[in-house]
Amino acid sequence: MPLPVLGRDVRVPVAGGGEVPYAALDYAASAPALQRVWDDVAAYAPYYGSVHRGAGYLSQLSTELFENSRATVAAFLGCRPDDQVVFTRSTTDSLNLLAAALPAGTRVFVFETEHHAALLPWARRAETGETPVTWLDAPRSHAQAVETLERALAAREPYGPALVCVTGASNVTGEVWPVRELAAAAHAHGARIVLDAAQLAPHRAVDIAELDVDWVAFSGHKLYAPFGAGVLAGRADWLRAAEPYLAGGGATRSVRRDASGAPAVEWFDTVARHEAGSPNVIGAHAVASACRALSEAGFERLAAREDVLLRRLREGLAAVPGVRVLSLFGEDAPRVGVVSFVVHGWESSAFAAALSGEYGIGVRDGLFCAHPLVRALLAEGSAVRVSFGVGTPDEHIERFVRAVGELVRRGV
Ligand code: PMP
Repeated sequence: MPLPVLGRDVRVPVAGGGEVPYAALDYAASAPALQRVWDDVAAYAPYYGSVHRGAGYLSQLSTELFENSRATVAAFLGCRPDDQVVFTRSTTDSLNLLAAALPAGTRVFVFETEHHAALLPWARRAETGETPVTWLDAPRSHAQAVETLERALAAREPYGPALVCVTGASNVTGEVWPVRELAAAAHAHGARIVLDAAQLAPHRAVDIAELDVDWVAFSGHKLYAPFGAGVLAGRADWLRAAEPYLAGGGATRSVRRDASGAPAVEWFDTVARHEAGSPNVIGAHAVASACRALSEAGFERLAAREDVLLRRLREGLAAVPGVRVLSLFGEDAPRVGVVSFVVHGWESSAFAAALSGEYGIGVRDGLFCAHPLVRALLAEGSAVRVSFGVGTPDEHIERFVRAVGELVRRGV
């Protein structure tokens, strides 16, 4: 059974007149919020006040709720006792924060297959000469990914601090990456590793200690919470030593004017260091609520159901002539509910528009903010991406498969 999400009763107009129930099959971009998350937010909304900034009862309540949300996220991710959970705006924000916190001279290792959020923060630091980056070609198997990384790490000169950035599951192919093996390779070569779990966390349990990664980043809006909150969780030492990500109130222990009259600032070295400004308590509460709901539902059960739907979807696509599904690691790779494909003779944008306009099915087309990966898989053009999750009823997958078949038979 799907978990109840918002938008189940939304109906949308289709060509020829009339309305159909909307089939949201673009979870990889933003998933609908769980009904339970929305209810939790609504229940708290009348009580919210400023966090860490007020003596009033509601401020105390909000501060407690914010800190409890942090503890819930830490438990959800299996954090180690000395890990920090920083609330950010999104995965993009989390990875930019980490990029800004790298110790001087850290070399970053990253596969070209990453989402731009996990490519460009390092690229920008590389441009300014602050952070050398080793760009790794798309591997075609898990073993090749590990070998490629090991070879590159071993060859680095000088053998200084290093960070590996890798995705847990691709936002283009849905394929799961061998995170534990890559983390072992990184650590064997004295490097650290950050996991971009934006696509993995909504589908599989992500345990920071068990995977033995140093940091994890994810976004609330892909994890069945509304927009506006993300997480960077992991090792405290680099974060504690770094310049504060944002300069402002809440991140400082004291500010005095020095002899020259300029402000002399003493920054916190706790998690508050990187959370300047009034925090998004509703967002943190929503993320924590989603973490609780998913943990209670149980990822094993959720993943088992997702596997059944994914098999149906992939078999359905395979049966349609002229449909090619994009894949790095091949048929047998473990994957989550994200599939990108091209249809012979169709522009992807026209195909996605027909799914929407004629069948009320919402998918995405394009290069999915992962241009180098799509270019490694597809010499030209763009693809259509269909993605789903815990709120998806079987009927949406059936309607999608039927629609693809009908559109291809009918032609452009
Ligand atoms: N990484 C991956 C793998 C993603 O799929 C996305 C979002 N498409 C991001 C990072 C960035 O997430 P956000 O837009 O929430 O910052």
